[in-house]
Amino acid sequence: MGLKLFNTLTRSVQEFTPLDPAGKHVGMYCCGPTVYDFAHIGNWRTFVFADLTRRYLEFRGYDVKHVMNITDVEDKIIRNVREKKTTLKEFTGKYEAAFLEDLKALGCHAPHVTPRATEYIAEIIAIIEKLMARGIAYKAADGSVYFSIEKYRSCGCTYGRLVKLNFDEMRTGERVASDEYEKESVADFALWKAYVPEDGEVTWDSPWGKGRPGWHIECSAMSMKVLGESFDLHLGGEDLMFPHHEDEIAQSEGATGKPFVKHWLHGAFLLVEGKKMSKSLGNFFTLRDLLAKGYHAREIRYLLISASYRETFNFTLEGLQGARTALARIDECVGKLRELAGATTAGPEGELIAQFTTAMDDDLNVAAGWAAVFDWVRDTNKKLADNSLTAAQAGAALASWEKVNSVFGITAAAQAEAPAEIVALLEARQAARKAKDFKRSDEIRDELKAKGWIIEDSPKGPKLKRI
Ligand SMILES: [Zn+2]
Repeated sequence: MGLKLFNTLTRSVQEFTPLDPAGKHVGMYCCGPTVYDFAHIGNWRTFVFADLTRRYLEFRGYDVKHVMNITDVEDKIIRNVREKKTTLKEFTGKYEAAFLEDLKALGCHAPHVTPRATEYIAEIIAIIEKLMARGIAYKAADGSVYFSIEKYRSCGCTYGRLVKLNFDEMRTGERVASDEYEKESVADFALWKAYVPEDGEVTWDSPWGKGRPGWHIECSAMSMKVLGESFDLHLGGEDLMFPHHEDEIAQSEGATGKPFVKHWLHGAFLLVEGKKMSKSLGNFFTLRDLLAKGYHAREIRYLLISASYRETFNFTLEGLQGARTALARIDECVGKLRELAGATTAGPEGELIAQFTTAMDDDLNVAAGWAAVFDWVRDTNKKLADNSLTAAQAGAALASWEKVNSVFGITAAAQAEAPAEIVALLEARQAARKAKDFKRSDEIRDELKAKGWIIEDSPKGPKLKRI
């Protein structure tokens, strides 16, 4: 049995098999941030989900090439550049840097390639030229180049692969110039937008005159340039299914005549405190807002990957408190195992990993994966309390957790600056241990725990960590 994933393209759970005949290499593209503001917690659900998917594929032995673009030119960005009287580079650079910082804080591996749209203008133009040559794109009276849905369909191609569309209500030849529009207004969309004075200095030369690319074509150009004309996995939030992903498929397949992506994965919406996030409701959070409230990034990551990516998830501050408790249980168990294992190292034991693999193979069923982890914590705590674990068994248990955690990516509790009183207690514990007064040493450990600190033994000596 192998990994099964829900494919939006076929609307069914399918066995995942890469295009690579050797079954080893996997090309994975996730639509990245539009860098005009700090990413909010709904955006982060998608990016953490992409990280989890990549990590699990790696756990399964695949050699993954993870690509996540940076959208650094589109309608909203240009509006901001104009209003703030700044330059494109200066404006987007600030938010790109903040995004990459937050991505790291949330324990996400850096994608292997993070292409910027503005560095792929030549590739974008090349795709539009192909579409023009095939008669699927046309230059309209406004000077912009549009994708003709009618021509595309008359070539035998299907527009509306990810979402169902009602073409009976569609008037042919209607055009939409903006990047975002509703399913009800499906129309020919812009590939190349002719220069207008509002664009300021944001413009490039093209065979159709000065202008800039539409948002959708950017992702087709970047993904195909880095991963090839056909690749394995494309991820994104479900809000991108239409029109963005639908248009990506149409442009790419219209230009190459080849299947674009084998497997489409979409992460579901995130509600905050039971409602759609909005600034006026006071439930709109960026990662930075939550960190400022005293929550840790690892707690936020845990909460974001505690439910299936296909379910709408209700993110609450109460849930973050629950995350803190859950992680403290893991930290405590792992801390004790470390203490017992000492310098002993061992290979992972099978049971936790087998249960975790069965859970995750089932369309990344994280709820079952976490259930396996907490069953293991309970059993391990029992064995620790009974003193029935050897150092080697503790080492093996630790190795199992680390293997599972190579996917969940919950970082160790941050080493914080400990106050003098806490450091003094740690020193007293060390003295008690040296004197083989283990009763006193345990008492001090409990006292530290009550004050919110745990001791982790490391090759460099004991370390204090905040619970
Ligand atoms: Zn995209």
